[in-house]
Amino acid sequence: MKLIDGKAIAHKINSETREATAALKVHGHIPGLAVVLVGEDPASRAYVRSKDKMCKELGFYSEKFELPATTSQEDLIALVKQLNANPKIHGILVQSPPPAHIDERAVIETIDPRKDVDGFHPVNVAKLALGDADCFVPCTPLGCQRLLIESGVEVAGAHVVVLGRSMIVGKPMALLLMRKGKGADATVTVAHSRTRNLAEVTRSADILIAAIGRPHFVKPEHVRPGAVVIDVGINRVEDASNAKGYKLVGDVEFETVAQKCSAITPVPGGVGPMTIAMLMANTLQACVNLTR
Ligand code: NAP
Repeated sequence: MKLIDGKAIAHKINSETREATAALKVHGHIPGLAVVLVGEDPASRAYVRSKDKMCKELGFYSEKFELPATTSQEDLIALVKQLNANPKIHGILVQSPPPAHIDERAVIETIDPRKDVDGFHPVNVAKLALGDADCFVPCTPLGCQRLLIESGVEVAGAHVVVLGRSMIVGKPMALLLMRKGKGADATVTVAHSRTRNLAEVTRSADILIAAIGRPHFVKPEHVRPGAVVIDVGINRVEDASNAKGYKLVGDVEFETVAQKCSAITPVPGGVGPMTIAMLMANTLQACVNLTR
């Protein structure tokens, strides 16, 4: 069994981004990312801080907005409009999920699609569905595809089962792997909570991508011997032995599934670091697009 080391692959991608950023600086351009968080959700706060830290490590310009949970929809939209007009900012990310009183879709639709480095704006979603290469693809599915490419997994013609149909992971993952080209051309099945005979469906996969948010849900009976397993899940489970009182686990029961598959991503250290690496790569691309 091969362990797909997302940390090492993300490190390599980040090094490439750092080098490309230094080359852009020579021409007077610095990629700029604005990250906006509304509310105090601890996991979201940690994500926002790690994105801001990575910007600094790669030589980006960054602005971080940590707004109170009481921030109005109007104020948030006004901030996004300001960032759209700010020439130092090439990428805008509004951390999901916002508090319940905020209409997330309206906020996303306010982001200039050319600065939508998360790939959630309807223009980018439509371009992905249309097979238009000139679009931003959501960072987590993009990271999963890159893991497959970098690990030498043959995707073309493979049967990929994507477990989960969210707009953040499952749906764009399926669209991305269905496209023509490198790391794509797959035969894709999307499964979800209403799928009948789920284990039978997932067992038919050459590549199984789990993104359901259910700790250790995927067991050996869901996996065909020799399959490749990508675990997107990040779930907090209680762990008294850990100083924080919890630990992070994936959607896959790693210990048992690892014995059956040919390659697998760990949690943590698999898809997680790739998501941030692809966000940085998308922001660099946005800077190139907006300054050429
Ligand atoms: P989500 O919006 O809650 O969607 C979960 C999907 O899984 C839904 O489509 C749901 O089906 C399906 N599902 C739930 N329980 C199921 C079951 N028992 N059997 C089959 N399908 C089931 O979650 P998400 O935002 O896509 O995130 C999924 C996981 O990925 C979470 O653990 C999240 O933390 C993690 N994540 C990780 C990263 C990263 O950087 N590594 C990034 C994003 C998300 P229905 O549509 O039928 O309800």
